[in-house]
Amino acid sequence: MKIIPLSVPTPFYVGDVNVYLIKEEPLTLVDTGPKTEKAKAVLREKLRDNGVQFSDICRIVLTHAHEDHCGLAKQIRDEAKSAEIFVHEWETGHLFGRLQSEEHRRLLEKSSVPLQVFNEMRDVYLDISLLTDVLSDGDFSFLSDESELEFASGTLKVLHTPGHTPGSCSLVREANRTIIAGDTVLKRITPNPIISPDPVNSEKRFKSLAEYLVSLAKIRSYAPTLVYGGHGEPIYDYEEIFNRYVREIDERQRNVVALVSAEGVTAYETARKLFPNAIDKDVHRFLAISETVAHLDYAEQTGKIAVEMKDGSEFYRKN
Ligand SMILES: [Zn+2]
Repeated sequence: MKIIPLSVPTPFYVGDVNVYLIKEEPLTLVDTGPKTEKAKAVLREKLRDNGVQFSDICRIVLTHAHEDHCGLAKQIRDEAKSAEIFVHEWETGHLFGRLQSEEHRRLLEKSSVPLQVFNEMRDVYLDISLLTDVLSDGDFSFLSDESELEFASGTLKVLHTPGHTPGSCSLVREANRTIIAGDTVLKRITPNPIISPDPVNSEKRFKSLAEYLVSLAKIRSYAPTLVYGGHGEPIYDYEEIFNRYVREIDERQRNVVALVSAEGVTAYETARKLFPNAIDKDVHRFLAISETVAHLDYAEQTGKIAVEMKDGSEFYRKN
């Protein structure tokens, strides 16, 4: 099976995103790049270098619904009249305009993010949301865990690998233990768990870090020889990356728990202490809060700290 990585520019700090062309019947793209003229032109050109046009694409599979990965899905689908878009059901919250402000406002309110800070963050989201087209019901089909995508020479197995987002998926080629992992595994950076409503109960928060650790182990169980991430170079040493992630998560977990006092702290206060340089900067602020909340949730789930509600906000205390 011929999997061809195509690097496409994004306006994000992370740099280029990897789109994967699976050059086999039915001609498939895994992720698309953001909705910018530049990304579209680069992708069109790189496909052309491989003898493929947008109109030839039959299937678009999205590893998750972040704008840098799904932005062009609708435009490519519209050019390739019959192409079908696939995404996990738990990503649809993102697809209908990613940051549904009300749900996110409630989540961030619980974490004691001041309203003014939330409003500034929302302005940043609005800019980011322009980097994708909104898909409606009927525009896509669902990917489900353990299902198989058929190709002329074999199959790719879908693995639901939640964590980075609730509906993140990886694709496994079992014949040669190759995995396309989206943003679940990245060569140079540890992926950030993004604060999200729980897909099953939007009043609750998705416990991203616990899910993420399970997903990393699930990928490991395939003993992959090659992992294609959503950004950066391919990974030939998953075991090393896995150990590094676990070490880094462990260390951050200890740092977060150390910031939780006996009197009680909010998530926002903890994020300010943990990321003093990132907390006042646009998108970094959102990532800093997401990371902190993910760690506080995990510390609470594993019995290291306790949480209680006071006036609509969560207070964390040492156990
Ligand atoms: Zn992402």
